[in-house]
Amino acid sequence: MITVEQLYEKLRPIRVGSPLCEFTREHCAQLLPTIQRIEDLKKEKNAIILAHNYVAPEILYGVADHTGDSYGLAKIARQSPAEVIVFPAVRFMAETAKVLSPHKTVLDPNPNGGCSLADGINAGDVRRLRQEYPSHTFVCYINTTAEVKALCDVCVTSSNVYKIIEAIDNDNIYFLPDKLMGQNVIDHLASKGVKKNIAVYDGTCYVHEEYTPEAIDFVRLGDPQVNVLVHPECHPRVVQRADYVGSTSGMLNHVRESSGDTFFLLTECGLTGILQSEFPDKRFIGSCTMCKYMKANSLEAVLAVLENPQPHQIIELSSEVQKNALRCVERMFEYAEPGQARPA
Ligand code: SF4
Repeated sequence: MITVEQLYEKLRPIRVGSPLCEFTREHCAQLLPTIQRIEDLKKEKNAIILAHNYVAPEILYGVADHTGDSYGLAKIARQSPAEVIVFPAVRFMAETAKVLSPHKTVLDPNPNGGCSLADGINAGDVRRLRQEYPSHTFVCYINTTAEVKALCDVCVTSSNVYKIIEAIDNDNIYFLPDKLMGQNVIDHLASKGVKKNIAVYDGTCYVHEEYTPEAIDFVRLGDPQVNVLVHPECHPRVVQRADYVGSTSGMLNHVRESSGDTFFLLTECGLTGILQSEFPDKRFIGSCTMCKYMKANSLEAVLAVLENPQPHQIIELSSEVQKNALRCVERMFEYAEPGQARPA
């Protein structure tokens, strides 16, 4: 288990502008009893914790067995031999883990696990759209409920959306629910001379839609060498000004491989904290925009769900949703990583 000193070393560099994200040695010592109890329960229940990059730093560095973006965590959920998966993130991610691991117990500790994208479309909307667009391949972003995935053809994440939509053998695509990501895909394919007829739904991520091109211009005025890293849920005018566009794990890898020393991140502030901790010699300009859904996770909630999960925290899916959502997500793996072994 991690010691106070090790935890403090990891959390000390984090300075993303909010007092919630500033850690003293005393604060780390206060966290240790809860961390110890969680570690004991993980062993007792053969459980692992998969934490999304946007959750609180004390979860990422205190108790998580794996951290990452939705694609990376979905792969780990599929492969892990653990009997119990605790998924501090948002509800649709815990559901995706259950889709990939139907025989495991998947626990959602989040008391507010919504997502403005996933909550913006339901199964009834997809049924109606499929009647309106009968010749289209329906591509859903992973930020959708299992019920919505079950009615779509292929799932994508921010790390593979461009590649998969380009590879789909149908020129008629319906992409849901993120209209900004959909427009970014359209622009990307047009820049490569790929012609597809892509219709998009009307959803947005309330965090990423707030970023503006003017913010990039302002930061570049002060530092013309700054590397601008943008999530594809941002507005196309923001994406067009980026040096790199990708998922949170893609941004992390980009920073690792870059010779630059200053980065402006246009994504939820959790990633800024991780990068400050992992690369203390580089400078990160973050925007302190928190996702209220991701930040609703806490160490106490993780402990409570391990100790005594409530019925609504245990992910259950009907067999039909399970089967059809799995087909949709498996098609993502087939497109993203052709030739990879299928799960048991
Ligand atoms: S950051 Fe946006 S897309 Fe991600 S969980 Fe929060 S609301 Fe949903």
